[in-house]
Amino acid sequence: MTHIIIAIDGYSSTGKGTFAVEIARRLGILYLDSGALYRTVTLYALQHEEIEWNGTIRERQLQEDILLGKIEISVLPKSDGTMRVFLGDEDVSAKIRELEVARNVSPIATLPFVRNFVDEQLHRFGAKGCVMDGRDIGTAVFPNADLKIFMTADAEIRAQRRVLQMEQAGQHPSFEEVLKNVQERDYIDSHRAMNPLRQAEDAIVLDNSHMTVEEQLVWLDAILRERFNLQLL
Ligand code: C5P
Repeated sequence: MTHIIIAIDGYSSTGKGTFAVEIARRLGILYLDSGALYRTVTLYALQHEEIEWNGTIRERQLQEDILLGKIEISVLPKSDGTMRVFLGDEDVSAKIRELEVARNVSPIATLPFVRNFVDEQLHRFGAKGCVMDGRDIGTAVFPNADLKIFMTADAEIRAQRRVLQMEQAGQHPSFEEVLKNVQERDYIDSHRAMNPLRQAEDAIVLDNSHMTVEEQLVWLDAILRERFNLQLL
């Protein structure tokens, strides 16, 4: 097992997860989805009525629960390269993908104490080597990552991808609603005070608006061979 750390950052729905999972599976290393951890904290806050109907977050209560260790998150790698995420004993991998969580996750992820908490978990799970995807992995979580990739794609193409993903999960969102959610998240993610989404100086940009996953893997394979003597394909 190689100990390489690969950081993949970028806008929501750019296919970071799909790409990262394929890399993890082919290199035989752990995949960690940092967004899933923010989503799990959001789910906890929703379940404990720490987010009010109008979106107001009861910050003090959430911070106290984190300090008291009430939010117990664990992950389990699956043989297909993906990961399952647990809140306490419950497998919440499906629940954290629902629109209610997506609507509330970006404001939750702006809170410094939530970011510190998630960063701690990510270090606990991934310090020995992983492919991790998120918004601030190459800039804040693992600034010394061996390889940093910054992914981007047109917002409409990303919304279309998200709609397809949700339909496959049995949900029926409207394209306009999903596009609005994608744009709002882009804005919040890039403008928050702590660790906003931005490209690390030493990151390589991958615009996959018109690329298949296979084409992206071919692109990465060349980089891995040249820099690390590793091969994906
Ligand atoms: O990647 P995903 O869309 O599942 O992430 C959910 C949300 O979590 C993002 O919209 C973003 O607000 C937040 N996030 C973050 N930093 C990360 C990963 C995710 O702020 N490293």
